[in-house]
Amino acid sequence: MTERLYYTDPYLRTFEARVVESLQWDDQPAIVLDRTAFYPTGGGQPHDVGSLNGIPVVNVVEREADGAVVHVLNEPWFDSAHHRLAANEVEGQVDWERRFDLMQQHTGQHILSAAFVERLGANTVGFHLSGDYATIDLDRAPLSVKDLAEVEVLANAVVFENRCVAARFVPDEEVPALPLRKPLAHKGPVRIVKVPGFDCSACGGTHVRATGEVGLIKITRSERRGSETRVEFLCGRRALADYQAKNTLLMDLAREFTVGHWELAGLIHRLDDDLKETRRELRRTRDALLDAEATALWQQAILVGSCHVVQAHLASRAPADLKHLAQRLVSHPQTMVLLAGGGEAGEMVYLTFARSADLDVHAGILLREACQAIGGRGGGRPDFAQGGGPQGDQVAQALHIALQSLTDSINATRETDV
Ligand SMILES: [Zn+2]
Repeated sequence: MTERLYYTDPYLRTFEARVVESLQWDDQPAIVLDRTAFYPTGGGQPHDVGSLNGIPVVNVVEREADGAVVHVLNEPWFDSAHHRLAANEVEGQVDWERRFDLMQQHTGQHILSAAFVERLGANTVGFHLSGDYATIDLDRAPLSVKDLAEVEVLANAVVFENRCVAARFVPDEEVPALPLRKPLAHKGPVRIVKVPGFDCSACGGTHVRATGEVGLIKITRSERRGSETRVEFLCGRRALADYQAKNTLLMDLAREFTVGHWELAGLIHRLDDDLKETRRELRRTRDALLDAEATALWQQAILVGSCHVVQAHLASRAPADLKHLAQRLVSHPQTMVLLAGGGEAGEMVYLTFARSADLDVHAGILLREACQAIGGRGGGRPDFAQGGGPQGDQVAQALHIALQSLTDSINATRETDV
């Protein structure tokens, strides 16, 4: 079993040790040392990174069989150019910035979890910590904004008091008398981490020596998950970085809109109301324009038998506009609408055909024929059809084909009627 130096000194950044085993771990080179300051993944806390004789340590795991700490390296131990010391002696260096960050988050979690118990009687049933993300799961839901704020205030009060954080292994006989926040999860030696007068937990992780080093504890989000609540939080440097980013965002927005940052919420509500009103106004104006345009088109309709045919190429109009126009036009009885849009300067050309309910013509079939002329495709129902094609220069031809088919069809019907 590897001697774990971080148990007694979590502030140890460099250490010397001996290699006791060289192995492959998941196809990567790895070594076991007689002693290490590297924390292996466990108890919700991620592993350390760093280097051994300059070789990067990319993963640290505890081997279940014998409790050895396995240091996974990103290059082979024996072939290494960094292999400066004697074959089995190493100098280890822990990436302190990452470790201290994890110690801040982890100790902050102890304090936050204890504060949830004290204020709300809510127990922590899950803990996740990664390089950029920390959450606890609580056995209570829902939690109000006020609940969360009260817990946050209590947790930070414990930080401001700068209480010491002490960790030690306790003899088995002392365990039953300990005021543990959570029951023990497994057998074996018990290591207790204590914030005097506030929290007592069994934990094998690394912690700061006094609560003041945790820095600010800030809850950033909470999410109900059935009967539980997941709470996202930041401590220390992470909380500062988050404050800096959010402050910059607010200040930038305030400058852009020339208001105080405290006026932004009101401003956004007003802008949102304005936007909604503008959209309504735009819709009314567009409707009025389409009405007027439909009226003008209707006046240019030609008669084929008793059928009014509205045929036009409106190059600047999008398919949605063509649809709106067609719907207005076919409210007139005995009306067939053959509209084209787009098709300028090599763009796609769109066709929209529609008929009034009292006509016995299939708009979808007419459209399918017409689309062939513009090298495209389309179709639809007997009363409404849309399509398009790439050959914009053939749009007149496409409309001509449609008109011709329509005329043939109407004439055939009339002859049958006669
Ligand atoms: Zn802990």
